[in-house]
Amino acid sequence: MRLKNSFGNCSKCGKQIMWIKTKAGKSMPCNPSFVYYKEQKGGKDRIVLTNGEVAVGTVQDYPEHATGFGYISHFATCEAAQMFRKKKKAAV
Ligand SMILES: [Zn+2]
Repeated sequence: MRLKNSFGNCSKCGKQIMWIKTKAGKSMPCNPSFVYYKEQKGGKDRIVLTNGEVAVGTVQDYPEHATGFGYISHFATCEAAQMFRKKKKAAV
């Protein structure tokens, strides 16, 4: 069980998510498909690596310039979460 990531569903949008345990001991809900990323100080994306480390960088479309691959937090792409953000912006 320890080597397997556990799957679940987002309580907001119902999409499948994968729980990855980070080195900090927190379980992060991530999208089940991996992404390529380029490590970058101050990058806008947080990428959870399969070993539980969290990298900071930018998600890449192609592997050519990528540092490696990992998984992004589901909340970064969750449609339901984005709806909340839009509402907040509209209120300002
Ligand atoms: Zn969601």
